[in-house]
Amino acid sequence: MPVSGLPPYDDGNIFARILRGEIPARKVFEDKHALAFHDIAPQAPVHVLVIPKGRYVSVADFSTQAGAEEVAGFWRAVGQVAKQLGLEGQGFRVLTNMGADGGQEVPHFHVHIFGGKRLGAMLV
Ligand code: C5P
Repeated sequence: MPVSGLPPYDDGNIFARILRGEIPARKVFEDKHALAFHDIAPQAPVHVLVIPKGRYVSVADFSTQAGAEEVAGFWRAVGQVAKQLGLEGQGFRVLTNMGADGGQEVPHFHVHIFGGKRLGAMLV
């Protein structure tokens, strides 16, 4: 069960379907712990999503229920993706939305990596 008050993990969510190869995604990175792909509606010159392979609804679930190896593997993947995309020199932004107030649309934990331009202040 998710710890966040959100509904339980739904294996029909769109990112679960991408993980199973049922729908296409423009993949940029994949290893044992994570998959990264270009966002279908980019909000910056570089906009990539990184998702863990485990079944976690949100950051609240991931950070409390994932094992240490999974957590480390996921964040290592985020770093590798940023490096692979050439973002390290100029910088980038990592963001996750959680639940209704956070504006989360897809109920499989993911982080957004934004880069490729000087980003403005965070919107609230
Ligand atoms: O963080 P949040 O759940 O709001 O964002 C979901 C993101 O997933 C959106 O940026 C949306 O464009 C992206 N998406 C995607 N490919 C899909 C469905 C959604 O990249 N097939």
